[in-house]
Amino acid sequence: MSSSVENVQWPRVSFIMPTLNAEALLDNVLASIARQTYPRDRYEIILADAMSKDATREIAPPFELLGLRALYGAVDETVFGVAARAVQIVEWAATHRFCGRCATRTERTPGERAMRCPACGLSAYYSRSHSGSLRHPEVF
Ligand SMILES: [Zn+2]
Repeated sequence: MSSSVENVQWPRVSFIMPTLNAEALLDNVLASIARQTYPRDRYEIILADAMSKDATREIAPPFELLGLRALYGAVDETVFGVAARAVQIVEWAATHRFCGRCATRTERTPGERAMRCPACGLSAYYSRSHSGSLRHPEVF
């Protein structure tokens, strides 16, 4: 089978996962991807980590730690755009863990990209136009 036929049969795939303190899930997610029958040389795994404070960054190797800027030009424009958005989302989630009104820990709202305060009901929604500053966007 020629490589061009293989490329049509197995298009290149990117798994882009935003992570924030994901140590409890990451091993299982990576093992699940590894168990797929998809050829390993036809996919890449990109973890967009928002400065996890747990063991996420120790689990992530052998991935290479790159700043988002280093990814620019190393992957195609669409993949870069998705990775940048993933970093924005995890950063937004990390900065909305507590209610801006009463400081209670917020909870994810099922079915929406929002954090809701269980004490006072205040909701904070992620906006697609959100372009908040990224403290240290890093992509594995
Ligand atoms: Zn509140």
